[in-house]
Amino acid sequence: MNYYGDPVTNLIEELRRLPGVGGKLAQRLAFHIIDMPEEKVYRLSDAIRSAKDNVKYCSVCCNLSDSDPCSVCSNVKRDRETIMVVEDPRDMAAYEKTNEFRGLYHVLHGAISPMTGVGPSDLKIKELLTRLGDGTVKEVILATNPNVEGEATAMYISKLIKPLGVKVTRIANGVPVGGDLEYVDEVTLSRALEGRREL
Ligand SMILES: [Zn+2]
Repeated sequence: MNYYGDPVTNLIEELRRLPGVGGKLAQRLAFHIIDMPEEKVYRLSDAIRSAKDNVKYCSVCCNLSDSDPCSVCSNVKRDRETIMVVEDPRDMAAYEKTNEFRGLYHVLHGAISPMTGVGPSDLKIKELLTRLGDGTVKEVILATNPNVEGEATAMYISKLIKPLGVKVTRIANGVPVGGDLEYVDEVTLSRALEGRREL
């Protein structure tokens, strides 16, 4: 029902499309935004626009970045023989915080999930295989989340990579099963990396 006029109703509708935002929260946010001073509203909308316009995928690792290649891929001090495969840019950020990993990353942007209709072709797997083409990479560490989707994704990728003669490892189960890497503390992540085993 359109109680508030089209502009407000549209705003509520658009907010409701965001993940985790139900109808009630969308309404609360919409009314909050309308009550905000004009300059704050413009700052918010400019930030959204600018993020969308200026952030791209790194053409090497598929991380989000405003430069291409991203700051990790273009850092000459990083070890180019090791690639850690993660589901999400946030997982990469979590590993970067540990300061333990000096290699490069590859961001899949999701995990295989038949339940939600995400298949291998929806992920950046082809881009990963392309990176292995020139023989520089000696080890691929599969650091997808330790849940059903993450394990299935790790298995799928390991089957593709092993025939290429590249060592494939999986992070250790220091991470609680079903846990999101993003929320795991740095010590646990370092241990998971340290205790990785060959697949
Ligand atoms: Zn990159």
